[in-house]
Amino acid sequence: MSSDKKILENLRNELHKHTHLYYVKDAPVISDYEFDLMLKKLIELESKFPQFFDSNSPSQRVGGKVSKKFNNIKHDYPMYSLDNSYSKQDLDSFNTRILKKIPNNDLTYLCELKFDGVSINLTYENGYLVTAVTRGDGVYGDDVTENVKTIKTVPLKLKGNYPQKFQIRGEIFIELNDFNQMNIERAENGLEPYMNPRNTASGSLKLQDSSEVSKRPLKCFLYQVVSENDDSKTQYDNLLSASSWGFNVSDSYKLCSSIDEVFDFINRWDKKRNNLDFEIDGIVIKVNQIDYQKTLGFTSKYPRWSIAYKFKTLQASTSLLSISYQVGRTGAITPVANLSPVLLGGTIVKRASLHNEDQINKLDLHFNDHVLIEKGGEIIPKIVDVQIDKRNLFSNRISFISKCPSCQSDLSKNELEAHHYCVNFNFCPPQITGRIQHFISRKAMDINGIGNETVQLMFENNLITNYADLYTLKKNDLLNLDRMAEKSVDNIFKGLNDSKKIPFERVLFALGIRYVGQTVSKNLAKKFQSIDNLISQSYDELLMVDEIGERISQSVVDFFKNDNNILNIEKLKKNGLQFESNIKSNVSDVLNNKTFVVSGIFENYSRDQLKNVIELNGGKNLSSVSLKTNYLIAGDKMGPSKLKKAQDLGINIISEQDFNKLLNLNLDVF
Ligand code: AMP
Ligand code: ZN
Repeated sequence: MSSDKKILENLRNELHKHTHLYYVKDAPVISDYEFDLMLKKLIELESKFPQFFDSNSPSQRVGGKVSKKFNNIKHDYPMYSLDNSYSKQDLDSFNTRILKKIPNNDLTYLCELKFDGVSINLTYENGYLVTAVTRGDGVYGDDVTENVKTIKTVPLKLKGNYPQKFQIRGEIFIELNDFNQMNIERAENGLEPYMNPRNTASGSLKLQDSSEVSKRPLKCFLYQVVSENDDSKTQYDNLLSASSWGFNVSDSYKLCSSIDEVFDFINRWDKKRNNLDFEIDGIVIKVNQIDYQKTLGFTSKYPRWSIAYKFKTLQASTSLLSISYQVGRTGAITPVANLSPVLLGGTIVKRASLHNEDQINKLDLHFNDHVLIEKGGEIIPKIVDVQIDKRNLFSNRISFISKCPSCQSDLSKNELEAHHYCVNFNFCPPQITGRIQHFISRKAMDINGIGNETVQLMFENNLITNYADLYTLKKNDLLNLDRMAEKSVDNIFKGLNDSKKIPFERVLFALGIRYVGQTVSKNLAKKFQSIDNLISQSYDELLMVDEIGERISQSVVDFFKNDNNILNIEKLKKNGLQFESNIKSNVSDVLNNKTFVVSGIFENYSRDQLKNVIELNGGKNLSSVSLKTNYLIAGDKMGPSKLKKAQDLGINIISEQDFNKLLNLNLDVF
């Protein structure tokens, strides 16, 4: 082996090892920074030595391949469903059926959690992941290998003493915290929240661009090795082996020697399941001994040696007392249902979110209605149904408010949007305090020393009316506030001072422009480099930026049209905040003044990556072919009409390889 290849392989093995320690074992031994450096080094070497390409290299975790369609593949072993049970009685009959066939008194059951996600079948050969296929109809499933490779808890290379070829099954899911965080970011960008973690996991797995999948917080638990080459004698050993080969196996399983013990396990988890980081919808009970499993066999649908005990969804019925309307920092009005307090899954519930007017209309909600509430992955429970038969004949339908509950200004609602907004941007109190609270928050300016209550207090005492005022606060004014000690005041000034180092992209996010969340802020900062440049852009120019649509462009233009906002920015500038980007904008200018249209599917880039490379090297992307186009980069399966138009106009049609030559590409830019 050449020494270059050896260095590459050592680096890959190290990275595989640290991914396992970090994501599966939860016990990292190096810092994130060291890990990133190693990965960067690997990517550098791989671009230098393309002849040593490895489709299972840790560098492949970031994705990049785009699949137009997922190949339908026949499973080697069908993926059965599980028979369901709902009571101790059901389980007793399951046990009786089994004992009839296997009267041996060494029979044991292995109980596992029933993870509520999407099932996946993984095939490994010589220790490498070769395919990942969804359950589909149980006989045929979709090949989602490229997408699954981006999930860090799925090993790309195994360790220990694994069979040469085998398959393993598991469940891909999203943890509740991650799910809630995703929804917070969606709300920031004015998008509707995702419904529940399971559908979101399943949707993520079917995204066409694997680099998008790599951004989703997917995780995977493995629960069953399926192979003729594995010599485990029991399901218990099967899980131990899987774990020793580097798979992420939940340690919540338990070996039980009677159906009563099984039932104890179920009862324990029925109480504890609300404290888990992820959702489960029941318990899976499996005959432990593989020999006995073989004797029992399968029906046409289920294994006879296993059954799922399903938990009831957490629901409760209560009555609607009233609706409150909250005003967010962008002026968005969110209705919240106040309920008669009721116990649900161990906590007392008094409120449920209603999201927007459509939601109220869909439920046809009336005052004093009896409602059914349910607790899913969200922090706040939701109303899922109204018990119409219990409705009072004379109760009125709830109609949405037309004035802001705080400042009594008119509300506006655009056809395309789900929310109503208070139009009084400059003077509506909750908008003002909301904006300042957003400004100081951790992901924005991260101002230690000031909390949300302090903002409220400062505002009520007329010390601040916008975030720029924070930087001209006087020590004495603060000391005069209730319960404000000298030390706290010093902390506030220190926090404000430290925030002057926060980079432009976060300052931009902190300004609180509607629909401009963290990602959009980053894109805008990178593209326009400074606030002055951004302010001078027109609606149409903003539209040209990747991932910036009409809603965002309009919102940015409107924000800078407001004189108060401009005054605030001037004041912040004077106080030393960063309004110029230090994200390197371009890596070269070899494509300066060149325009490109990108179409079709490419081997080494996703379309977005390709567009990104063009921009990073000074080129410009156009969305359609016209006389202004210099090059059409034609990928696989590009639209025939685009191709014909380019030919008719005599535009240079080039391949991905031609483009690389044009650029003399140095993969370092990734
Ligand atoms: P069902 O979809 O209700 O027929 O239940 C069968 C599904 O449960 C399987 O396809 C798996 O996706 C899922 N499942 C979750 N956890 C487990 C587990 N520990 N063992 C077996 N199946 C599980
Ligand atoms: Zn208002």
